[in-house]
Amino acid sequence: MNGVTHDLLVLGSGIAGLRAAVEVARVSKGELDIAIVSKVQLMRSHSVCAEGGTAAMMRPEEGDSFELHAWDTVRGSDFLADQNVVQRFVEEMPQEILQLEHWGIPWSRRPDGRIDQRAFGGHSFNRAVFAADKTGFFEMQTLYDTLQKYASVTRYDECYVTSILVGDNSFQGVTVWDLVSGEFFVIRAKALVIATGGACRMFGFTTYSLTATGDGLAMAYRAGLPIKDMEFVQFHPTGLIPSGILITEAARGEGGYLRNNKGERFMEKYAPERKETAPRDIVSRSEMTEIEEGRGFPGPDGLDYLHIDLRHLGAAKINERLPLIREVAIKLAFIDPIDEPIPIRPAAHYFMGGIHVDIDGATPIQGIWAAGEAACVSLHGANRLGSNSTAECLLWGKITGEKAAKFALEQKALASVSEERVRQEEALIFDQYRHQSGEEDAYVIREELQSAMDRQVGVFRTGPELEKALEKIRELKERMKSVRVKDESRVYNTNLLNILEVANLLDIAEAIVAGGIVRTESRGSHSRRDFPQRDDVNWGKHTLAYYTPEGPRLDYSPVTITMWKPVERKY
Ligand SMILES: Cc1cc2nc3c(=O)[nH]c(=O)nc-3n(C[C@H](O)[C@H](O)[C@H](O)COP(=O)(O)OP(=O)(O)OC[C@H]3O[C@@H](n4cnc5c(N)ncnc54)[C@H](O)[C@@H]3O)c2cc1C
Repeated sequence: MNGVTHDLLVLGSGIAGLRAAVEVARVSKGELDIAIVSKVQLMRSHSVCAEGGTAAMMRPEEGDSFELHAWDTVRGSDFLADQNVVQRFVEEMPQEILQLEHWGIPWSRRPDGRIDQRAFGGHSFNRAVFAADKTGFFEMQTLYDTLQKYASVTRYDECYVTSILVGDNSFQGVTVWDLVSGEFFVIRAKALVIATGGACRMFGFTTYSLTATGDGLAMAYRAGLPIKDMEFVQFHPTGLIPSGILITEAARGEGGYLRNNKGERFMEKYAPERKETAPRDIVSRSEMTEIEEGRGFPGPDGLDYLHIDLRHLGAAKINERLPLIREVAIKLAFIDPIDEPIPIRPAAHYFMGGIHVDIDGATPIQGIWAAGEAACVSLHGANRLGSNSTAECLLWGKITGEKAAKFALEQKALASVSEERVRQEEALIFDQYRHQSGEEDAYVIREELQSAMDRQVGVFRTGPELEKALEKIRELKERMKSVRVKDESRVYNTNLLNILEVANLLDIAEAIVAGGIVRTESRGSHSRRDFPQRDDVNWGKHTLAYYTPEGPRLDYSPVTITMWKPVERKY
């Protein structure tokens, strides 16, 4: 068995993974030998795409408060967020903003030199700290630069983790396929932080990178960890037509208008007070209603779209505050937003659910923590507020880094790994798809999955449509047994890589749809036409999905309510 050992393994090099690695290095003062594994080049993680900002309460003297940020988050979550988690988040976030400032991030500034903040959906104060509209890029750069100070870090870039090894409810190691050399090996470590991001690529129209295939979620799920609140998938109101690339919410935060084919600012009808800066679930539903009632523009893919209009902001503001949006619109939609409105429609954007963790990011398996979009610490409940995610990645990157480091420092020995188990995994990866009979094509299966998710598991859902989607997913899982890999090499075999990713997407999609069928209410992003009301008595609880070969086994856990009882959401 090929293998290497480290003290602590960070799986994923997005904002959550890099922040965790920096914290491990800081806390252990170089004593722990850290590995960071990423299936892409470290700086190509989806986090570099984050655009609009990172939320934190920075201005008590101007009227913001921890209580207000917490209330916005809880109300935005449609009362499914754990309120003790929200409280910790709002109180500890300002320090993260200052920490990044001390590490050198170029936050955008007010004329007096102080850190600027902009409006974001569902926040009742301008609370998003930002670096133009390239916030994630600068956060990644800053964390990466900071990491260079520490000698105790080994990077495994372009290495694909295929499974998480667990024995006696404790972490043992991971199996890794080095995409560049083709080698298959084990990394053993005392502790693991999973920071593998989301799985939005199960949808066709999405703002996400091709790499967001839910590998970490699927591996954790198959290793016995429950995944929580998976039915809650966020649709961002402004995905660019036709690619789905994100037009940041900051475009509305800076004053952009949403318009229908009559030129009307339709959000005035649906959210009279907040209008375009209402939370994303509400804006996305309003857009779909406008489209369904015939007030959209005919789209190139047969589906209608709407406009986001920035023209009244003027060239100077667009160039200073939204340079990336202008560049993206010009290059990908051939439209200059200074002169013309941008075509948009809701696009799959974020998973509120993830690996079930406690308030410190600890999973139920000893030695494993999870942070960032892959985790569900229950900060966002049924609907996340924009700019709260990069914030969560920073804060729970730090928290899990610290906790995992302390655990690894106390742990004397590495757990052993069964050679037989590793041989089985290697055979499963490299032989199974070569020896299967049948001629199924994984790319066709992926397309059919995306089409089912787009059509039947979108902004509005119904029981019969969800049932149809589940049936489709199960059919596709069956057909995966007849998928053949066309490229037989072990070196940079993207064909085999994509097959493994599609298998992961299918497992996670099944959990999303199964949870959504049973949840007979509408809450946040889970909007059932057949059950339009929120039902706090029966459904004020988290969904937990446990892997079984026959499909997910569902269970439930209570929501922690410490401050506010559920009330009607009005914006
Ligand atoms: C276009 C866009 C704009 C956004 N803008 C904002 C914003 O302005 N504000 C905000 O708060 N949020 C924003 N978000 C959401 C936010 O950026 C993400 O939720 C967050 O960056 C996720 O970070 P992460 O560290 O959890 O994971 P990611 O950055 O997605 O990183 C995942 C990592 O896991 C690795 N990985 C995954 N699977 C494997 C495997 N099998 N083996 C090895 N490595 C693996 C990947 O290589 C990668 O390094 C935006 C999202 C998008 C898509």
